[in-house]
Amino acid sequence: MFHLILAACLASAPTNCGIILLPQGDAATQQACEAGAARIAQEWLEAHPELVGDAPACPANVDLPAADLQEVAPGVHVNLGTSLQMEDSTDGHIANLGAVIGRDTVAVIDAGVSRAEGQALYTAIRRITDKPISHLIVTHMHPDHSFGAAVFAEAGAVVLGHHALPQALEGRGAAYLANLTQLYPPAEWIGTEIVLPDRVVGDRMQIDLGDRILELRAWPPAHTDNDLTVFDRQTATLFAGDLLFRELTPVVDGSLRGWLEWLDSDPAAGARFIVPGHGAVTGSWAEASGPQRIFLEALAGETRKAIDAGQPMSSAVPEITKALEPLKKDWASFEATVARDATVAFQELEWE
Ligand SMILES: [Zn+2]
Repeated sequence: MFHLILAACLASAPTNCGIILLPQGDAATQQACEAGAARIAQEWLEAHPELVGDAPACPANVDLPAADLQEVAPGVHVNLGTSLQMEDSTDGHIANLGAVIGRDTVAVIDAGVSRAEGQALYTAIRRITDKPISHLIVTHMHPDHSFGAAVFAEAGAVVLGHHALPQALEGRGAAYLANLTQLYPPAEWIGTEIVLPDRVVGDRMQIDLGDRILELRAWPPAHTDNDLTVFDRQTATLFAGDLLFRELTPVVDGSLRGWLEWLDSDPAAGARFIVPGHGAVTGSWAEASGPQRIFLEALAGETRKAIDAGQPMSSAVPEITKALEPLKKDWASFEATVARDATVAFQELEWE
């Protein structure tokens, strides 16, 4: 397969450039790609007036950067992110991303932190299959999972998310996007935009990829207030999104109590493969959730202790952070995350 690409630069800062892949331009031959290239590129640039583009080109799939996909179960492919927080990473490619290939179509689970990461995932999927990508399932609002969505929307995927996702992205998306441009060089974020879901999941929803059912489930506030999980019936694979952290320090951005309740609800019942939002895939619920449970219970316990002692938040947060120090050896990007978690936990638990 050949892909239509375009060098694009900020109209306001023309030395800030990146490569844009336009999936509408995919073709079986270079000649067929080139035949439509100018028109497709021009239409896309007209819809993105903040960018100026160079002449389009049609390289072969193999010549483009692609995410590393591993098949963890038949037809279930996972790209493992680097277990670091975004501030500690050079490109923000920190979240686990997935693709499930059905008889007729493909579903993508999370799109990465930027258009560049979404494109690398798209290119990797196109190395495996040319079936249509019917769905992009966004597990929650955080940019490392959601900001690569545009390339899949342009490829024709219906974008699905939790019923609270639109409001969350409308509230926080602009700040996330500004942060992305501060953290990484322009080639990493050019063309990145916020994509709201086309359809939302109220409680549960099933999608069919052709003889392959995925069960989507929207959860009450836990990691965030818009967490969605995906279960592939055919292989009993659970994509937990950031309801499960392994290796990377868990981020509390919804409800600590709600998250502990989620862990208690046996959410992976029947799963043979568990894909966390960060860290390695495992078949064991105890292995997937045990260290996170220890972390969250310690966070809740130390926070309640500080609140019961009548401490104000300003002194409680460093004290909670210090008390959790013995857990540091198990987790990446520990200090900064724990200080934020302690703040969120204090604000939630002081009203108990
Ligand atoms: Zn997250």
